[in-house]
Amino acid sequence: MKNIVIYDSTLRDGAQSQGISFTVSDKIKIVELLDDFGVDYIEAGNPGSNPKDMEFFDIIKRKSLKNSKLIAFGSTRRANTAVEKDANVSSLLLAETEYVAVFGKSWDFHVSEILRTTLDENLNMIYDTINYLKKQGKKVVFDAEHFYDGFIENPDYALKTIQVAYDAGSDSICLCDTKGGMFPTEIYDITKKVVDKFDCEIGIHAHNDNGMAVANSIMAVEAGAVQVQGTINGYGERCGNANLCTILPNLQFKKGIKCVEDDKMRELTVLSRRISEIANAAPDERAPYVGRNAFAHKAGMHSDAVCKNTRSYEIIDPELVGNERVLLLSEVAGRSALIGIVNEVDPTIDRDSDKTKEILDKLKEMESKGYKYEGAEGSLKLLILKTLGLYKPSFRLIEFKVIVNEPSVDDVNSSALIKIEVDGQEEITAAEGDGPVNALDKAVRKALERFYPEVKEMKLTDYKVRVLDSNSATAAKVRVIIESSDGNEIWSTIGVSTDIIDASWIALVDSIEYKLNKK
Ligand SMILES: [Zn+2]
Repeated sequence: MKNIVIYDSTLRDGAQSQGISFTVSDKIKIVELLDDFGVDYIEAGNPGSNPKDMEFFDIIKRKSLKNSKLIAFGSTRRANTAVEKDANVSSLLLAETEYVAVFGKSWDFHVSEILRTTLDENLNMIYDTINYLKKQGKKVVFDAEHFYDGFIENPDYALKTIQVAYDAGSDSICLCDTKGGMFPTEIYDITKKVVDKFDCEIGIHAHNDNGMAVANSIMAVEAGAVQVQGTINGYGERCGNANLCTILPNLQFKKGIKCVEDDKMRELTVLSRRISEIANAAPDERAPYVGRNAFAHKAGMHSDAVCKNTRSYEIIDPELVGNERVLLLSEVAGRSALIGIVNEVDPTIDRDSDKTKEILDKLKEMESKGYKYEGAEGSLKLLILKTLGLYKPSFRLIEFKVIVNEPSVDDVNSSALIKIEVDGQEEITAAEGDGPVNALDKAVRKALERFYPEVKEMKLTDYKVRVLDSNSATAAKVRVIIESSDGNEIWSTIGVSTDIIDASWIALVDSIEYKLNKK
C-alpha cells in the first residue's frame, strides 16, 4: 500500500473563503483537531501578513504536536531586492517552524503581466529565496503557482521554474492549478512528466473552479504525486480548494492508497463537522462521505434495497468514515423503514395492510404542507396514533395571548396568558420568559401541572426555526423543531405555519402530547 502525505491548508487557503474568518483560538483548536487526525503538514498562515498570524505562531510554537508539522507560508523575494533584505522572506523565519512553504510563479504570462519583471529575474527570485531558507536550516516546500497553465503555454519555462527550485534544494515541489480550470487528463499527463523528471516529493494543489479539484488531485496521485494539498470541507476562495474530506476516503477505500490509520478515518465526519462549527459555516448536507445525506436513503425502492443489502446503494460502509446510515421517512418512504415505528404502536400491522397505506397517505399530505418527519419522530408517532384512531388529546386550547416587551430586563422580555380546558374544567395561567415561545411554553405547562403532574419532569432542550420557500418572503412558511427531554428520553416534534408563534405552538403541543401519550 502506497502512502500519501496530507498537506492541509484550511488555515491559510481555506481562510480565504468568503464569510470565514478564524480567530487565534479558532486556529489553535483546528491545529489540535488536524494533528489528532494525523495530517502530515498544516499550512498555518503567513507570519508576516498580519499580527493575528504572528500571535498564533507565538502560541503554537510552545505546543508540541503529535503527528503534524506546521508550515509558515510566504512568497519568494520581490524583484530586484536582495533576499536577506526582503521583509516578507525574513518574516517567514519569525514563525520558527521547521518547514516553510514558498510560492513562486511558473506561468510566464504572470511573470511579465502581473509581476512585471523579466523571466530570468523570476528564476533568480525562486532560486535565491529557497537557497537562503535552506541555509537557515529550513525544510522547504515550493508551491509552483499556475504551474499547469504555465506548462500548457510555455512548458520549457514552467519546467525551468521548478528546476531552479530543485537546484536550490527544495525538499518538495507542489504543482498548483491555481485558477482551478484544468481537466483530469491534463493533470495526469503534465504531472507524470514532472514526476519522471524530478527525484523529489511532488505535490498537487488544486482549486475547484471547474468542479474538478478532487478528480484532479486523484489523477495527480495516479501520475505519481505523493503530497496532496487541500482543505477540510473544501473551504477556499471562489469555488474552494480540493476537499480533503472527499479525497482521503477515495484514496484510502477506493484506490487502496493509505492516508491515515483506519481508526482515524472513522473520525473524519466528526472532524468535518467540528471544523464547520468553528468556521461558523453550515455543514454541506450533500457532501460525499461526511454529509448528513451521504448515506440517507429516501426513495422507497432504495431504502428497501439498502435494508436487504447495503452494497446496493452505498459506496462504502458509512462507519468507515464515522458517518451513519439514515432511512428517511418521507412521502415515498419504503414501507419497511416505516413499519418498524408503526409496530411500536401496534405490532399487528404489517407492511401490506390498509393501515400502512393510510399512514403513508397522511405522511404525503403533511409533507406537501412543509412537514418533514426526519428528526421529528415524536410528531411522527403522534401522527401514527391519530391515523389509527388511537389518539386522545389531553387538553383543549381555548386561547392564548403573547406580549413582547422591549427592551428586555434580566433576560425577560415576553409574557404569555393562556386558557385551556381539561375534561370540562378551565384553567387560566400566565408566565414570563426569554422570548415569546419560552413564555408560552412555561404558561402552558404551568396550566397543565394541576391535571398532569408529570409535565413537570419535561423541559425544552432545543428549538430550531427554518424558513421554507424563502423566495416569497412575505408569505414564507416557517418550520419549527422542538427537542424535549424528561431525563429518560429525548424526543423531537415539529410545527409548520406562516406564523412563527403558531408553528411553535403546534410543535409545543405535540411535545406535551407525546409525553402524556407515552403511558
Ligand atoms: Zn491555492
